[in-house]
Amino acid sequence: MVPRRFFSASMAALVLPPSPLPASSFARARFTAPLCRAAVPLPLRRSVPRSRLQSSIANGDLSTGSEEQSEIIFVGTGTSEGIPRVSCLTDPSKTCEVCLKAAQPGNKNRRRNTSILVRYVSSLGRFNILVDAGKFFYHSALQWFPTYGLRNIDAVIITHSHADAIGGLDDLRDWTNNVQSHIPIYVNNRDFEVMKKTHYYLVDTSVVVPGAAVSELQFNLIMEEPFIVHNLKVTPLPVWHGKGYRSLGFRFGDICYISDVSGIPEETYPLLENCDLLILDALRPDRSSSTHFGLPRALMEVRKIQPRRTLFTGMMHLMDHEKVNEDLSKLKETEGLDIQLSYDGLRLPVNL
Ligand SMILES: [Zn+2]
Ligand SMILES: [Zn+2]
Repeated sequence: MVPRRFFSASMAALVLPPSPLPASSFARARFTAPLCRAAVPLPLRRSVPRSRLQSSIANGDLSTGSEEQSEIIFVGTGTSEGIPRVSCLTDPSKTCEVCLKAAQPGNKNRRRNTSILVRYVSSLGRFNILVDAGKFFYHSALQWFPTYGLRNIDAVIITHSHADAIGGLDDLRDWTNNVQSHIPIYVNNRDFEVMKKTHYYLVDTSVVVPGAAVSELQFNLIMEEPFIVHNLKVTPLPVWHGKGYRSLGFRFGDICYISDVSGIPEETYPLLENCDLLILDALRPDRSSSTHFGLPRALMEVRKIQPRRTLFTGMMHLMDHEKVNEDLSKLKETEGLDIQLSYDGLRLPVNL
């Protein structure tokens, strides 16, 4: 049983091994420190000044966007298999209009695995905080990182351990080999246990053949309690994602992000009060599935939570961007509800 404790970003910064180190000792240190910290308080042996950890972040990556304004970039807004589905494009009947449209460059029905990037501007610099790195992370990053002048990944926060949320952890090697020494990962113990199996070579890099370069990830265990990432308070929003399976949404300031949900426990609703922007799972137009809200249920939750504005995410190929948005627009007139579908690459200035 892990003690109810979380490890703040400042603690994480203080126990980072100094770099550069030889690959083997670096790997060993990276493995032992987080696990020890998860089990028992660890004396802070190797202190690295906070300014050193963040120097590359604070000095670079200022090429686009406002230097003053935090923002959210939708890295992906679709289901696990992506939109378009290959099976729809190879279907001789060619009946799936959404997938046919999604195959055209620039179409808003083109959707990769759900993920957002929070670009947080503070007095310490700008920080790129990614929520989830799923199977299609490389393809999302290939499109949006150059477009928006993104370079560093200063943290990754994990909602749950399905493949469309963690399948891209291996691709982070391009960053830790070529951009930065390591990436802090914030994950709860349940999902960390899964990663020990699915990504065992990233959890314990000492098993990697000498000379082979894999992602250098620094794991920080979180609980269902607020934690700090680069001075930004992040509040977990525990939800059900199928029967008996827990996933986390996250609140950043007054922005609430819940990408994978089939039910919201009563105790989570107070954490959603006074929400300025709600980003919520809405898989399909007609009904919910066992693991995701459909549009009717998502709308019901919006009426209950009463955010100022809502953007749906996680849409499958039955959700046509223009058509569903047209229908949602009518709710503004009839009920005063500001709701639209998000889309890959959508960039929103926000106050955090
Ligand atoms: Zn389709
Ligand atoms: Zn999932």
